[in-house]
Amino acid sequence: MTTAAPQEPALQASLSIDLKPTAHPLSDTERATRLENPGFGRVFTEHMVTIKWSAGRGWYDAQLTPYASLDIDPANMTLHYAQSIFEGLKAYRRPDGGVATFRPYANAERFQRSARRLAMPELPQDLFVAAVDALIRQDIAWVPGEPEESLYIRPFMFATEVGLGVRPSNEFLFVVIASPAGPYFAGGVKPVSVWLSQEYVRAVPGGTGAAKCAGNYAASLVAQAQAIEQGCDQVVWLDAVERRWIEEMGGMNLYFVYGEGEDARIVTPRLTGSLLPGITRDSLLRLAADRGYAAEEAQISVDDWREGNANGTLTEVFACGTAAVITPVGSVKSSTASWTVGTGEAGPITMELRKALVDIQTGRAEDVHGWTHTIA
Ligand SMILES: *Cc1c(COP(=O)(O)O)cnc(C)c1O
Repeated sequence: MTTAAPQEPALQASLSIDLKPTAHPLSDTERATRLENPGFGRVFTEHMVTIKWSAGRGWYDAQLTPYASLDIDPANMTLHYAQSIFEGLKAYRRPDGGVATFRPYANAERFQRSARRLAMPELPQDLFVAAVDALIRQDIAWVPGEPEESLYIRPFMFATEVGLGVRPSNEFLFVVIASPAGPYFAGGVKPVSVWLSQEYVRAVPGGTGAAKCAGNYAASLVAQAQAIEQGCDQVVWLDAVERRWIEEMGGMNLYFVYGEGEDARIVTPRLTGSLLPGITRDSLLRLAADRGYAAEEAQISVDDWREGNANGTLTEVFACGTAAVITPVGSVKSSTASWTVGTGEAGPITMELRKALVDIQTGRAEDVHGWTHTIA
């Protein structure tokens, strides 16, 4: 085993990003063409940021360069053993024309936690945010300004050492790319139908469910395909042990609304270690409380969901995450039952919380929590 040499703190703190932008920027017309109907994750901006890490040197060689392919050796360790983690956050155009991201330090902190779980090096939080800011500043013309549009930022890190020995890689590459995005689900804020997966699980106690790692997604795709076969839009995950407790929906956290109006109670599944701690989830817990709702974390079973709908105490269910913000859940199907959630339409509290959050993110409402981070 190679042990990592102690990192030089002074050197780490002073690592600055070398700016080497393209000599051939796109014209405004070419960019406007690419920005038409961007969809989600299909169009990328002109630059990327890369930072290297090696066991001997720590973090080094931070660069902003033109967006380009990466050269991968067939024996690259990531291709075989999947030491690969990522983040997702958005830059929003504000009414004054400025640009801001939402809680980027929360993403930076989660990225460190994911790294620890996957035996990868922890990128200093300031460097994570500096890399994201540098890319947005360079490609600021790519931040769209229509409602529901944003620049989706994808920081990620993967092993770059070459070799088939099973152990943590001694070399990694951190990369940030950006993609102008329209609404995540085509058709806007439309309720989705969900399939309760009783056959497959996303995460297990002691596993990687709380880390934002590529492997979790690889393991989830067959269940998502099954949901589609069942005529549903998305898969809902249950806990791996009892197959009884609701965990998440696809790559989003879930919220359950009990009651109506001022007396509504808003509940999200507790973070048991196999759920991904979403930043949107966390923000909504606080926003709901700000607005006077009882907001709490608890365990919710499939039976609670079905019975709550049958007796009318459960009025709304929605999913939340950076990419789609808030998406109402309209109906549920499992191998034994199916039911409509509330009226089957987007509920009033779902839409109220969605607006409250989007208004802060886009600079249309006061940000009392200091969540927005302006790109200078
Ligand atoms: C990223 C992610 C979420 C949502 O997290 P946000 O920080 O709100 O974007 C929820 N579940 C899974 C599995 C995720 O990967």
